[in-house]
Amino acid sequence: MRTLWSLFFLFFFSTINTIHAQTDETIADSSFVNLKDYSTDFVYDMKYATADNFLKAKVYDCPECLLRFKTVKALVKANEKFMKKGYRIKIYDCYRPLDIQKKMWQIIPNPEYVANPAKGSIHNRGGAVDITLVDSTGAELDMGTSFDFFGPEASHFYENLPDEVKQNRLLLKKIMRKSNFISFDSEWWHYNVKNASKEKVSNTKWKCD
Ligand SMILES: [Zn+2]
Repeated sequence: MRTLWSLFFLFFFSTINTIHAQTDETIADSSFVNLKDYSTDFVYDMKYATADNFLKAKVYDCPECLLRFKTVKALVKANEKFMKKGYRIKIYDCYRPLDIQKKMWQIIPNPEYVANPAKGSIHNRGGAVDITLVDSTGAELDMGTSFDFFGPEASHFYENLPDEVKQNRLLLKKIMRKSNFISFDSEWWHYNVKNASKEKVSNTKWKCD
């Protein structure tokens, strides 16, 4: 009888695993998915869904983090690594529809601050994230500048920073790079998933209630 039960459980759980694997395989790497459907371990502060950003304008109707599925998979893995060290990823920005890029370009038509929508950016392709780290109390680690700070201090190569800031940036960079992301020299918060430029610029929109 005991053997029969064991066999039943073995069959039951192997069926569940198979279903799960099939579900994952049916989603193409280039599909847009919402990060919150794949993990509840992220902290969100979607800056462009508020006026608390360099544009001083709310350009998203609501705060959702849409990304290509392959970006989500890599980001979830990165967050798991940070969590083992007592930190979590806090998200500032994810995929950005092309119409929003155009809106931003209308507000500040300067390629030093906003990517020209004629070219599009990796954010428009669903392969970029703007992030920082928070500790177990939810407090942001000191990264030396605020998000979207325009100046040399935001660069990974800027030397004149306290050791703690340098270590925090390095912690973020090390684990993101191990998790299939590429850092961006002039912005400590920006990461592109590898091969992100292969994806097309998109204008897919998310629904707001
Ligand atoms: Zn960015």
